[in-house]
Amino acid sequence: MRYISTRGEAPALGFEDVLLTGLATDGGLYVPESLPHFSLEEIRSWRGLPYAELAYKVMYPFVEDAIPADDFRKMLDETYSVFTHQAVAPLVQLDTNEWVMELFRGPTLAFKDFALQLLGRLLDYVLEKRNQHVVIMGATSGDTGSAAIEGCRRCEHVDIFILHPHQRVSEVQRRQMTTVQGDNIHNIAVKGNFDDCQRMVKESFGNQSFLGGKTQLAAVNSINWARIMAQIVYYFQASLALGGPDRSMAFSVPTGNFGDIFAGYLAKKMGLPISQLVIATNRNDILHRFMSGNKYEQHQLEHTLSPSMDIMVSSNFERLLFDLHGRDGAAVKDLLERAAKGPVSIEDYRWKHARKLFDSDAVDDKTTCDTIREIYEQNEYLLDPHTAIGVRAARNCRRDSAVPMITLGTAHPAKFPDAIAESGLSVKPELPAHMADLFEREERYTVLDNSVSEVQGFIARHWKNA
Ligand SMILES: *Cc1c(COP(=O)(O)O)cnc(C)c1O
Repeated sequence: MRYISTRGEAPALGFEDVLLTGLATDGGLYVPESLPHFSLEEIRSWRGLPYAELAYKVMYPFVEDAIPADDFRKMLDETYSVFTHQAVAPLVQLDTNEWVMELFRGPTLAFKDFALQLLGRLLDYVLEKRNQHVVIMGATSGDTGSAAIEGCRRCEHVDIFILHPHQRVSEVQRRQMTTVQGDNIHNIAVKGNFDDCQRMVKESFGNQSFLGGKTQLAAVNSINWARIMAQIVYYFQASLALGGPDRSMAFSVPTGNFGDIFAGYLAKKMGLPISQLVIATNRNDILHRFMSGNKYEQHQLEHTLSPSMDIMVSSNFERLLFDLHGRDGAAVKDLLERAAKGPVSIEDYRWKHARKLFDSDAVDDKTTCDTIREIYEQNEYLLDPHTAIGVRAARNCRRDSAVPMITLGTAHPAKFPDAIAESGLSVKPELPAHMADLFEREERYTVLDNSVSEVQGFIARHWKNA
């Protein structure tokens, strides 16, 4: 399978190169040139498969040129055996025909583990084969950093440096990053804010001379194709558990960068009957404003109780725009260049086409808290603030009560105790047993000044073969 850029100018690549590349050289994102398509009969035959085996069926067409089947199977077995539920992505019923899919049973308690646990193994496999080494450099304000660190801690060919803003991430989130032990893991607390961290990462990718030509940077942010690929699987899993593919499903997805919900869109294109996808956002609602009024316009960033969805633009939305424009890279390039300067719209028929599948809603902090409280009172079930936004949007946007509505449960409530407290509930979300001692574990991180040369100097001195 080959991968092409959404802006139509960068060279097509194979899986290995796409895995190691962030943005395409033309500024676009890589997507498969064509998607595998599964018949209903084939999907039906997957009923009852263990998660790792289903993952193999769904993903193998994407990687088959790069990885022999047995090696890929082994990688998937290892990846999903560290999850703490036998079903890996269990469903919990909220009401008649309404469900939450718990995607937080992995090592860092958020859905990002599904992709990043696999990504670490894929990277190490490909780097071993090529006898190469990479330095992963990333900035985090929340869940990505810890999931990436967990995913890479056993990698022999990867050193990972994660920047977080000093004293500006929650204690649970910081401890999840800084208590993972390993020679290749480096946490840097920058005396600045998240934007400062991001700027340093961007600048370093732009000029990697500080590494002396001896290694190269790699990215694990959500534009990495392999992350999207791994997220397609659980849409199939949920559907098969609830009577699919012989009935269609609706999904509501707490959305930030549009990675998770784009995977659902791909599942549909690969043959899974999905009749509705709900884009659930917080007050950072650029996608909701686009879906409701065909106007794509950046607003100021707002800080909310659902920090993992605090974004101004959703990078993966470009992948949907590419399809909506008949895969015309030049049209996407033109649209996004105009969007960087001011509000843009797309042709009405294209927008209406998107609206056939997608609905959207924006949920503010107060309604998030009300929803956490309401679901707890109805079911004694505690939602994290991101999932609560998904559930609220699902209820507001539902088209057909005969179609099962599944909200993606993106994080464990214990990661966000402040939102639970703010919702007025007196229950305290408990960390799962494997993390109960998080607050006693030894932390390791280095505080550095808000200076790119200081951070680059630190990386240059500390990667394995430096
Ligand atoms: C990352 C994240 C999201 C947003 O996912 P996208 O793929 O960026 O849309 C939602 N909820 C939680 C808890 C997350 O960590």
